[in-house]
Amino acid sequence: MRLLIMGAPGSGKGTQAAAVSERYHIPTISTGDMFRAAVRSESPLGREVKALLDSGSLVPDEITDAVVVARLSEPDAAEGWILDGYPRTTNQVAALDTYLATQGKQLDGVLLLDVPQEQLLERMLLRGQHEGRSDDNLETVTHRLAVYHEQTEPVISQYAPRGILHLIDGSGTIAETGARIVAALDPLTVADVDG
Ligand code: ADP
Repeated sequence: MRLLIMGAPGSGKGTQAAAVSERYHIPTISTGDMFRAAVRSESPLGREVKALLDSGSLVPDEITDAVVVARLSEPDAAEGWILDGYPRTTNQVAALDTYLATQGKQLDGVLLLDVPQEQLLERMLLRGQHEGRSDDNLETVTHRLAVYHEQTEPVISQYAPRGILHLIDGSGTIAETGARIVAALDPLTVADVDG
């Protein structure tokens, strides 16, 4: 199964992606996690993207696309994956479409987590206090939300007409949102088994 999970910063994408990954036995591929790991290891990529992550701005498409294509080409991704945090721009949608077309593969579903804006802010500021994610402070969070509205909402408009978009209410508990996701995805796996 090849899936995307989308939603504003703080919508719970990472948490829900991990649950989907476990239930359907597919790896989670998170661009945010990959970039944060690169920054921690002080690799050339990490040095290039650090300032962008700290300010909450997007990493350029060419860099992000290359990181994702390399990761999708690894053996554990052969049978499926859930992409968390990618694509985030309309150019990245085109890059993913091209990659999938060259592989003769297609997306099975796009999950869109819907959470009210006030709740997003609350969740991220709380996460900043508890997990010490350096980009979870009020200034950066506000910027990430603005970037999301400007750059990532158009991505949703691109997937909507394809008939694979599942709007998931993400305002409840982790378990409630998880159950809504399972209700959307389980029918897809049955279709898989039948042919
Ligand atoms: P969030 O959704 O909470 O903002 P992520 O972990 O998905 O957090 O992303 C953290 C940061 O990593 C982003 O603010 C951006 O700098 C960078 N990043 C992640 N994914 C992408 C992407 N697809 N394109 C460009 N930059 C990205």
